[in-house]
Amino acid sequence: MNLPAIELALHQRLEAMRADIIRLTQEMLAFKSVNPRFMAESEISEEREIQDYLEARLNALGLQLTRWEKEPGRPNLVALLPGSGGGRSLAFNGHIDVVPIGDRAGWEFDPWGSDIDAGKLYGRGALDMKTGIAAFIAATEAIIASDIALMGDLQLHIVVDEEAGGFAGTRDLIARGYRSDGVIVAEPTSGRVEAAEGGLSWLRVTIRGRAAHAGWRFAQIYPQAAADAPNADGVNAIEKAVKFLQALREFEREWAHSRHHPLMPPGIATINPGVIQAGVGMGYDGKPRVTSNPAMIPDVCTIDFDFKYLPTETFEEVRAEFEAFVSAFALTDPWLRAHPPKLEWHLSNIDFPPFSTPSDHPLVEACRGAQQALGIETVLAGKRAVTDAAFYAGAGMTPVILGPAGEGLHGDNEYVEIDSLIETAKVFAGVILRWCGTA
Ligand SMILES: [Zn+2]
Repeated sequence: MNLPAIELALHQRLEAMRADIIRLTQEMLAFKSVNPRFMAESEISEEREIQDYLEARLNALGLQLTRWEKEPGRPNLVALLPGSGGGRSLAFNGHIDVVPIGDRAGWEFDPWGSDIDAGKLYGRGALDMKTGIAAFIAATEAIIASDIALMGDLQLHIVVDEEAGGFAGTRDLIARGYRSDGVIVAEPTSGRVEAAEGGLSWLRVTIRGRAAHAGWRFAQIYPQAAADAPNADGVNAIEKAVKFLQALREFEREWAHSRHHPLMPPGIATINPGVIQAGVGMGYDGKPRVTSNPAMIPDVCTIDFDFKYLPTETFEEVRAEFEAFVSAFALTDPWLRAHPPKLEWHLSNIDFPPFSTPSDHPLVEACRGAQQALGIETVLAGKRAVTDAAFYAGAGMTPVILGPAGEGLHGDNEYVEIDSLIETAKVFAGVILRWCGTA
């Protein structure tokens, strides 16, 4: 059989599996697999239970399974369908952890009830992203049931911990050496092929002043009064930080005007001050020690930034530009010239490498071809947030993000459109055929 005939047969098989695919997704949604980093210690996540469930399902398919825990009780799964050789390998990635449901009162449906209403399947994780996992499992099942021999290896990476940075999940999977020629991260994209994602790093800027009694402040504001206060040599770190933030705002705006990526909205690469702390004395944890006494002139101010850059930029480039800006800024202030701000990159080890997979890359072409076979016109887009795709890119692999449609991601009444679930499974089957090749 040629590709169109094999593909059509797969579409028909997946259509026949419709009820089973919906049931699979519903059963996955019933597990309360909230990321434990967002739970009270007394609560128990069902990450292990959903992985037990999926492991049994994948085992029954005869796939080669590897299971391990980077953190106790939080298993990751890799399933391998070995190719016959000579083809490109493909990995699908999905995370089974979900964010908490928030306020139950905001939900019209039980967040763990897997209710179906008007073609929509409701539940926490319906969109983000148990459906994507169900879709690639279904595509794999259809290929196996059809006795299609792939040339390239097919891997399913089903992980924990995406919602909290991927430390116990995808980052660990890659550290263990898993590699493939192409990667599809099945996060929800409403069918758009998301071929680019910006980089993200957390950064702490520490600005130092000089501590003194607040009673001496007048002598700093009115220098002519300094003669009356010979020991009034405090320097307020908060006020230096305010000056820095104002300059940074201009720098950020300048960057927004001068840098652009075709798949991203203008100005997407921002430098957000997210946490600011000030006080007296530097603690061992890199934060101000005394933070409850406004009668002192603070000598420490730390500002933590969410630092975003474009898909085509490198961390080294943006870091060098930012450091040059900070140095130039410090020269404008006599105190800061002598006591320049200190930068601490990779704060909390948060680091998402960027990627920009070319629109004519064979992996994008495989997605386009698989969508065309279903009469869908491919829409290319960029991801505005960050995903586990970053870590594959950081290890030199080529990712694309592609998944189903719905609404309510991280919000109330999260749902996936059931037609989109089935369609995504069909698209994935087509991508596998095109990318891995058939013997
Ligand atoms: Zn997600």
